[in-house]
Amino acid sequence: MPRTIVGQEAGRADLTDWRQALGANRFDGDPFFQNLLESHLGAAFAGIAPRLRAVADEAGEHLAALIEESSRDEHLPALRSHDADGRPLEEVLFHPTYHEAGRIFWGSGVLAELAEPGHEVRCGALVYLLGQHGEGGHACPVACTAGAIKLLQRVGTDGQRARYLPSLLERDYGRRLHAAQFVTEVQGGSDVGLNACVAVPAPDRPGWYRISGEKWFCSVADAGLFVVSARPEGAGEGTHGLGLFLVPRTIDGAPNGFRLRRLKWKLGTRSMATGEIELDGALGEAIGPLGDGFRNLVGIVLDTSRVHNAVMACALLRGALVEARTFAARRRAFGQPVLEYPAVEELLARMKVRTMAALATTFRVLAISDRIDTGGGDEGLVAARRIAVMLNKSWTALACTAGVRDGIEVLGGNGTIEDFSSLPRLWRDAIVVESWEGTHNTLAAQVLRDFAVRGLQEPWLAGLRDELGELSHPDVADVRERGRALLADLTERVEALVAADPATASATMRHVFDRGCRLTDWVALARHRQWELEQGLASETADALELYALAFLDRKGPEDAPRLVELHRRLAAGL
Ligand SMILES: Cc1cc2nc3c(=O)[nH]c(=O)nc-3n(C[C@H](O)[C@H](O)[C@H](O)COP(=O)(O)OP(=O)(O)OC[C@H]3O[C@@H](n4cnc5c(N)ncnc54)[C@H](O)[C@@H]3O)c2cc1C
Repeated sequence: MPRTIVGQEAGRADLTDWRQALGANRFDGDPFFQNLLESHLGAAFAGIAPRLRAVADEAGEHLAALIEESSRDEHLPALRSHDADGRPLEEVLFHPTYHEAGRIFWGSGVLAELAEPGHEVRCGALVYLLGQHGEGGHACPVACTAGAIKLLQRVGTDGQRARYLPSLLERDYGRRLHAAQFVTEVQGGSDVGLNACVAVPAPDRPGWYRISGEKWFCSVADAGLFVVSARPEGAGEGTHGLGLFLVPRTIDGAPNGFRLRRLKWKLGTRSMATGEIELDGALGEAIGPLGDGFRNLVGIVLDTSRVHNAVMACALLRGALVEARTFAARRRAFGQPVLEYPAVEELLARMKVRTMAALATTFRVLAISDRIDTGGGDEGLVAARRIAVMLNKSWTALACTAGVRDGIEVLGGNGTIEDFSSLPRLWRDAIVVESWEGTHNTLAAQVLRDFAVRGLQEPWLAGLRDELGELSHPDVADVRERGRALLADLTERVEALVAADPATASATMRHVFDRGCRLTDWVALARHRQWELEQGLASETADALELYALAFLDRKGPEDAPRLVELHRRLAAGL
């Protein structure tokens, strides 16, 4: 038996204390999120709050451990291609803890919420609380299933809705139908127009097609329903020639004309199965008009996943902040908690402001979705939202990786150890969150096209101008004026971008859009601050805005702006 050494045991006791602190309810401990939700939900907030608290309790008590277990190397999903007698199965085997985690995700009602229009904020709130312990192998399936639900609700036939919607909206994990979306092919993910999978009408089934070809990235490879992009035989080249199809996993109990070639060996989201799939005459029915395949893919399916992706980024950011802040308060170095070092306070304060900004912009998008879905939005709002969704997906994902990385720094070497904290896993998930559902450049290029071809910069900029105009409280007057100056600058840069030759536009687009994202952060935080002022609430949002201006807009450090030291201290003082 090793001797007990007092200093070592004290250090270990601090760690045990930290682990216990991690279990605290993530809804109760997040007043900024609660206020943000109330600002969007109004009186309905009181109705859903107890449920959110209960989901956060269950996530803290069980989900965190289940996700950790199902993400261990030895518990990752495995392919079971054939049964004992050699019949094809094309199944994925998961560790039991994976399914237990799934029961918590589905049981929260996160997808059942979508039965009613106008419940995006509520669904997002659940994803945010469930996702703080990592993608967990289920946030991606939830996002894909949400996309299929929206696709059916918007462009499905009555028969398709009746066939699939009830089980896609199911709360019971054992009875659920979950969906996947297979678009990317080996020759290109961003360049979807290169899709080569072919769809040939099935002679014996009107409205159905036989789909063949290879899909290179197939997440949720265990899904019961695949949404697949393919080119109907004879259709034109490029994205315009693409159709969208619903492909059930099995027909009459047997795999529906596909082979799961192998599962990807991935950096992140490892407990979720991503495979390569060969389709060989898989039966699929067209969803929506054939010629609208790409439009529906981008406008409904990817749009939905991009918003889910942003909520996931918020969740990972917040999860990392909770781990790092609670650790810093207990971990000692050179005789004091590391939290008391201003350099650590700076890391934590920046993580917190990134999280607050990401939450404010993402829930703003969700609230706009609810407005539109319940008939309260005009064409301009729909267009402004389309741009906001793409930029927000990219920006929150970048913030997420930066924030989780800072969290790892706060934990020091322990932050790199897989079974010490969830941070290495959150960081690996964060990098995936950056690339799927559209890489940064692809999204920027799409926004640029929307500006150049459809003039969508007008409604997008007008929306930001209107929101700034609504900042009428005297305590946010300075914030409004700063926002107006940023908007004037952005407007000029966008005009120059749209007028630029293709090479210059490609070289500058990310930089211009980054400015747009910072302004969006600013407006969303300012609007929330105004709401708090109207409610008479004291909060940290004013400090967050001040830090945002100094650190992220002016790019100053404490040596140029000593006020930052105080702001770091105040923002790092709590969760
Ligand atoms: C874990 C994981 C799971 C995934 N699951 C799925 C899934 O279920 N279904 C699915 O369909 N796909 C899935 N994907 C694929 C994902 O959507 C693609 O990886 C992504 O769209 C990028 O495509 P690509 O990897 O082929 O990169 P490429 O298109 O080859 O891009 C390479 C680089 O070039 C840049 N680039 C491309 N075009 C431009 C441009 N016009 N201007 C400037 N730069 C450009 C990109 O930003 C990127 O940096 C998954 C990916 C990952 C990592």
